Amino acid sequence: MTRTVQTRLVDFEDADSPSKKVNLSKPQRLVPDKRPPTKVWRKTINDGEVWGVFDVDDTVLFVQILDGRVHAHGREAVCKYCGGILDIRGSQIFCGGECGVYQGNFSYDLNAYLKWDGAKSLTLRKAVAEEEGFSLEERDYEPIHYTPQWSVLYEFEDFEADELEKE
Ligand SMILES: [Zn+2]
Repeated sequence: MTRTVQTRLVDFEDADSPSKKVNLSKPQRLVPDKRPPTKVWRKTINDGEVWGVFDVDDTVLFVQILDGRVHAHGREAVCKYCGGILDIRGSQIFCGGECGVYQGNFSYDLNAYLKWDGAKSLTLRKAVAEEEGFSLEERDYEPIHYTPQWSVLYEFEDFEADELEKE
């Protein structure tokens, strides 16, 4: 399924302009407006880019592969021990520098993000699957024991799906 990316107006505003400065760390809530609701997950993987899934230190994240190198959150990921560049070897990533230590599991199959629990709550899993065009796991279709608060979720801006789980 292909969907266009929903972009917020905030993204176009000049951050250097004091009058328009927006505090992104404290999203305003309960303020009704006519903009479409902010999505729980913003599309990350764009056509023509090479991405993989990296399971490192109990964190599963999407990483972009640029010239064979692993990039996370917009910058190159390096070995946490020696700072060396990372080396993808099959389904694993090792330090390609001095220490050579194993760093974590890796897959070019982006469905691994859901398989490895990169998103834990069903709400977030569904959002990721929809935005990125993945298939949900079998277990995601199993009956659940609580009533998801879909309506609440989509009424608030920047609502973190994790907060739903704390309640
Ligand atoms: Zn190293």
